[in-house]
Amino acid sequence: MEKRFNGNFTQQEPIPEEGIDAALAVLRSGRLHRYNTVDGEVGETALLEQEFAEMVGAKYCLAVASGGYAIATALRAVGVLSGDTVLSNAFTLAPVPGAIFSVGAVPIYVGVTQDLTIDLDDLKSKLPQARFLLLSHMRGHICDMDRLMDMCREASVTVIEDCAHTMGASFRGVPSGRHGAVACYSTQTYKHANSGEGGLLVSDDPEIAARAILMSGSYMMHGRHIAAPPPEVFERLKYVTPNISGRMDNLRAAILRPQLRDLPERVERWNVLYHVMEHALANAPQVVVPKRPQDEAYVGSSFQFLLPDFPSDTITGFIKRCENRGVELKWFGEPEPKGFTSRYDSWQFTSIERMPETDDVLRGLIDMRLPLTFSKRDCELIAEIICQELNAG
Ligand SMILES: *Cc1c(COP(=O)(O)O)cnc(C)c1O
Repeated sequence: MEKRFNGNFTQQEPIPEEGIDAALAVLRSGRLHRYNTVDGEVGETALLEQEFAEMVGAKYCLAVASGGYAIATALRAVGVLSGDTVLSNAFTLAPVPGAIFSVGAVPIYVGVTQDLTIDLDDLKSKLPQARFLLLSHMRGHICDMDRLMDMCREASVTVIEDCAHTMGASFRGVPSGRHGAVACYSTQTYKHANSGEGGLLVSDDPEIAARAILMSGSYMMHGRHIAAPPPEVFERLKYVTPNISGRMDNLRAAILRPQLRDLPERVERWNVLYHVMEHALANAPQVVVPKRPQDEAYVGSSFQFLLPDFPSDTITGFIKRCENRGVELKWFGEPEPKGFTSRYDSWQFTSIERMPETDDVLRGLIDMRLPLTFSKRDCELIAEIICQELNAG
């Protein structure tokens, strides 16, 4: 009989017991708001910021309500104004162009390579059109960051990093998010740390950090932050920075702190799962698995492969057969986006210019999540089913 996979592609691990205890302590105190502290007390949110800043080696960190909010705040904090153009990835998730739209700016999309990183040649040709690049390390694929930063520096383009899929990753030893002027992370359930909703923003620039803190809704209580610039920076900015509330609360921060501590161990487990998939599909005929550069230390929390020579209806049949056997694949080439598989041409709130090479990559792009509730054996079975169904078509 045909084997079937019975796991759940969206089931994450439980919150660590220590996080549950810390959350209960916050609930029992009643002090959920981050600035609601008693004398001498440092709230969970301020501690989370301090610990995350330390983890990635940043001077300043701000915890906020979501990853998308962190990105919009970062854009405002670096000075993006209504009507400005912002370069960004054609291959990313919808909250990225959405954040650009939310500040009244206009996205200009940059293409994607077969290795699923931003096309640096396309970027180079488009750099003169904008002063900002919102770089999304989509699905954890990190481009040659040294080359990208050199190009952007030369063109005086400020880089904002979207690290929703690279929390815990690095490039040539530099933690992801530490190349640009500011970086944003998400702690939404499907990312690398889970507080339901949540986001983190880091920077070494005191003005960017102070503006972000003031905008997030600090009500002149910025003194209760630890990973924040000194008071004089706030003095200069406090009357000219609007409050656009989007703080994180102590309950979420309490859940996140033990998860951050466990992140290196979780990254190792993700990469074991990723390597099972990579190894099994590397030699499958007609399948292209993106090459990952030696310089990239990635987090394999999802897996991608390309079927460049498959006609669309063949892919439709393949996806359906996998689904019938319990293997839930996402296809970025599907004519109608499903779930998170929207493409740049689905974001019709601004005008777009077609990119034929990017279209070719996305047409054959298959994606799957690898939650940590999967075992190595689960991934072996998933890969076996995928290989069988590729041959069955
Ligand atoms: C999830 C995600 C975001 C936004 O994070 P939210 O916390 O859901 O707002 C941004 N970029 C990418 C690539 C994401 O996957």
